[in-house]
Amino acid sequence: MSGSGGVFIDGGWRAGAGAQATSVDPTTGDVIWRQSTAGPADVAAAVEAARRAFPGWSDRSREERIAILRRYKDVLVARTATFAESLSRETGKALWETKAELGSMAGKVEASIKAYDERTGEHASDMAFGRAVLRHRAHGVMAVLGPFNFPGHLPNGHIVPALLAGDTVVFKPSEETPLAGQLLVEALEEAGVPAGVINLVQGGREVGQALIDQEIDGLLFTGSAQAGAFFRRHFADRPDVILALELGGNNPLVVWDAGDAEAVAALVVQSAFITTGQRCSCARRLIVRDDASGKAVIDAVAALSERLVIGAWNGGAEPFMGPLISDRAASMALAGARAMPGKTMRAMSAVGGLSGAFVSPGLVDVTGETIPDEELFAPLLQVRRVGSFDEAIAAANATRYGLSAGLISNETAHWEHFLKRIRAGVVNWNRPTTGAAGTMPFGGLGSSGNHRPSAYYAADYCAYPVASFEAPSVTNTVDDIKGLRE
Ligand code: NAD
Repeated sequence: MSGSGGVFIDGGWRAGAGAQATSVDPTTGDVIWRQSTAGPADVAAAVEAARRAFPGWSDRSREERIAILRRYKDVLVARTATFAESLSRETGKALWETKAELGSMAGKVEASIKAYDERTGEHASDMAFGRAVLRHRAHGVMAVLGPFNFPGHLPNGHIVPALLAGDTVVFKPSEETPLAGQLLVEALEEAGVPAGVINLVQGGREVGQALIDQEIDGLLFTGSAQAGAFFRRHFADRPDVILALELGGNNPLVVWDAGDAEAVAALVVQSAFITTGQRCSCARRLIVRDDASGKAVIDAVAALSERLVIGAWNGGAEPFMGPLISDRAASMALAGARAMPGKTMRAMSAVGGLSGAFVSPGLVDVTGETIPDEELFAPLLQVRRVGSFDEAIAAANATRYGLSAGLISNETAHWEHFLKRIRAGVVNWNRPTTGAAGTMPFGGLGSSGNHRPSAYYAADYCAYPVASFEAPSVTNTVDDIKGLRE
């Protein structure tokens, strides 16, 4: 296994013809990866290689593809310690998080097999003439563009079901996390995925742009709503290209008649500040009752936020929160927090003694304020106090996004009402807003996606259905035609 190169095309690693790029450890500022990225000709070659490999790969039996993907799972399991450490180094995430990410990646293989069989396998039913058969066919060449926040798990969540369905893939990881992308592809290579079936092109948006300009059959994207809107426009005249868009959110968490404020605060803090607020499903807006019970929740959240350990993944105590992905991301988040109207209850600020990428969690009361409906991808929680449960639901729905939402309440009737009214693809009750499972779909409404959820439903966008009506021999006669002249 070589693994040194900005591109992996047709089974070989090499330097790309594009610009030099680096990956910087946000905890230390050290450069941990440096490569020549893909040039336009590399991107074209990667798509051509994937195109050439498609017939052979899609013609293989389901069992052969499964065997290779199970070997990939074994490689991930064997490499968990070193892969997780690299993910922590590249993203700053705590080891407990990156080990869990490796677990999700390995778990995706069996989850995808189950989803493939249940949602897109082969199903036959008897008919008077023979049988009707539903089969699924792979689309062809899929482009996968990955985000930085789960640089292994999220691209993996597209790549595994695509390969299982018989598609071939050209993968461009986030420019913030090229090492994670390289390690993922190295694991597939080690598992014996044939040449051309998985290809890697490293680089920034210009490489993503070059990729979507090629003759691809699908774009499987996880990232920002802005980029998602751009891709929708880009492919407006290409309805033949399947687009699966997993985008951001501005997720609400409503607390109503919930009892113990400290227990509630634990759920709120987990929802808002896990992964330093860099999850698409993080709670951004906390909506509480405008009375003493609401105040108790806000105070408990502020108090618990003070106790969160913020630090290096490889420092002494295991941290709850690491850095943001870069110093630049931290500067932008701090500027966004400063610009937010309302009463700051706990300022999001730089953390003394650590690199410029570390910020503390922030809490701002925005009651009565008009706030731009944007996703601030950082640990900043807006609090809004309202007078009634209906107002709480209206406030929760006051967003163009619709990814995740949560209710914390001991009242079943509130939950039932919430479930009916809330507009989101992932809706939780007394659980963090970040809940997800490979056995469930994961996706959102409005600006959060395009109704092609991922996770368990990824099988749906990796293959198209074909309906066949089959008779084993010619049994019809001319008499079957109505209205024939003698
Ligand atoms: P991003 O949109 O900036 O980038 C994602 C990928 O797309 C990168 O590889 C990037 O190079 C590429 N890209 C971006 N704009 C492009 C363009 N115009 N042309 C070609 N390629 C382009 O996202 P990010 O900052 O890496 O990730 C964070 C975002 O992802 C947040 O908005 C978060 O909510 C979202 N996200 C969504 C989910 C989900 O499942 N819904 C999961 C995780 C993250």
